[in-house]
Amino acid sequence: MLIVQKFGGTSVAGADRIRNVARRVVETHEAGNDVVVVVSAMGATTDSLIRLASDVSENSHPREMDMLLTAGERISMALTAMAIQDLGVGAMSLTGSQAGILTTPDHGEAQITEIKPGRVKEGLAEGKVVIVAGFQGVDPESKDVTTLGRGGSDATAVALAAALKADSCEIYTDVDGVFTADPRVYPDARKLEEVSFEEMLELASAGARVLMARSVEFGRRYGIPIHVRSSFHSGEGTWVKEKTMEQAIIRGVAHDASEAKVTVHGVPDQPGVAAALFEPLATAGVNVDMIVQNVSEEGRTDISFTVPRADLTEAKSVSAEVADKLQANGVDVDENIARVTLVGAGMKSESGIAARMFRILSDHGINIEMISTSPIRISCVVRGDQISEAVSRLHEGFLPLSPPTEEA
Ligand code: ADP
Ligand code: ASP
Ligand code: MG
Repeated sequence: MLIVQKFGGTSVAGADRIRNVARRVVETHEAGNDVVVVVSAMGATTDSLIRLASDVSENSHPREMDMLLTAGERISMALTAMAIQDLGVGAMSLTGSQAGILTTPDHGEAQITEIKPGRVKEGLAEGKVVIVAGFQGVDPESKDVTTLGRGGSDATAVALAAALKADSCEIYTDVDGVFTADPRVYPDARKLEEVSFEEMLELASAGARVLMARSVEFGRRYGIPIHVRSSFHSGEGTWVKEKTMEQAIIRGVAHDASEAKVTVHGVPDQPGVAAALFEPLATAGVNVDMIVQNVSEEGRTDISFTVPRADLTEAKSVSAEVADKLQANGVDVDENIARVTLVGAGMKSESGIAARMFRILSDHGINIEMISTSPIRISCVVRGDQISEAVSRLHEGFLPLSPPTEEA
């Protein structure tokens, strides 16, 4: 069998943990498997490098930033290779570029376009464990290194598994699997045995960062089941796959506190105004998420939208320019917001879920500021400081400890 094993930041945070990873990899190898390992940067290395860059310069340097951040994964891949060799197994580390991970040129959020894993296959053919740096690739035109966005090592792992036609892809992390809510926010959350690609994609997009959304897309597109499990013990984790045994009405609650809300006040309520605002935002590369247009008064209205906090400065300056042009009443930014989301494929055939969600939030004095839905998801924007209350109360309401379905 060919197995891809990915180890996240916490799993390689320090010499002991790296040696522990090496032992797990060697066990899998000794059992007769070919093993490709993908590693993240150690602990909070990526965060520290980002902080260091902002201490050095206030300006944006997309190319150099990627050069800087890819160093984090290089450190862990080399150390992991050393630890594996010390256990008597051949091992070789490769950067994303050496592993043939080709991407679009978009620094900081590059997409994998193709994988040419020639050197990975050569290493495997020599009986070696091949360690690939996660989160990075190379733009084949400019030959510049790129990064795939936060959490991108998950995407590296699943895409490599697809390119190598691996038998399985294991994501080792600091929790036991995918839970019904972030166990750090709601400790009574339960580990799921399995979750469908469709549901996991919604959970990941809604902030359940245990898997990067793009990695789930790869898994679905190429039919690669993903096993999310603990790097600290060998118990079963969660299988992310095409179909699950039972269809849950609500599979989980996700939350995201990484966005901010921008409001443009008093824009003329007439055709073309939304386009005049969102076109330049798109051109500037701002990732707009939820949008609400308020009730119009005397031919004027407010438009609010949410953006990742990382895009806030850009969003604010573009919106201010547009507001000026449209002679609107100004722009407001609110950073104290968060989004809570219910996900479940069974929602498709069940009515009244949204109403119940709104009732639970209101019963606990939580005001809903924005709402968005998909066939299997409902999201509400609430005050940022009420987010853990919202997650907990919704979990209690929709995923009680002994679910009513178990009595049947
Ligand atoms: P890694 O460094 O291994 O990639 P991450 O920090 O990216 O780990 O992802 C794991 C974290 O995701 C957990 O520690 C947990 O706090 C968080 N998380 C958020 N939502 C969930 C969820 N539904 N199930 C499990 N973990 C979750
Ligand atoms: N080191 C990168 C990050 O912190 C990639 C990853 O961990 O998946 O986002
Ligand atoms: Mg991660």
